[in-house]
Amino acid sequence: MAGEAQADCLFCKIVEGSIPATVVRETETTVAFRDINPQAPTHVLVIPKAHYPDAAGLAAAEPSLMADVLREAGEVAAQDKVDATGYRVVFNTGVGAGQTVFHAHAHVLGGRGFEWPPG
Ligand code: AMP
Ligand code: ZN
Repeated sequence: MAGEAQADCLFCKIVEGSIPATVVRETETTVAFRDINPQAPTHVLVIPKAHYPDAAGLAAAEPSLMADVLREAGEVAAQDKVDATGYRVVFNTGVGAGQTVFHAHAHVLGGRGFEWPPG
């Protein structure tokens, strides 16, 4: 069923606590933890506790949960004090765009400048 934990999903295991992560924020519906391979001084992943393969699927199935993820992205930026200088929120969707973990997640990147268009 949509939203149920998947046994073979890395981020479901982080939600369960069976794989460790550096958790920076947690709510009833979300977890935020530092990316293991950071691409900026602040690089935090915000995930819904429920499993959805990508951001659009999450938004379609549970819009309020997607709103929770985006609100938490802002809270992470404020907590890491990158909100005033600017930060980027990225949802890689699909292999061609660089998605490697198929449990929806927002990358929150900050603490340095960013190019546009993105690479
Ligand atoms: P994406 O490539 O958009 O699917 O993002 C997946 C992200 O998860 C990458 O930036 C990885 O560095 C990160 N990642 C993979 N394994 C872990 C882990 N065990 N703890 C924290 N971040 C991870
Ligand atoms: Zn999952």
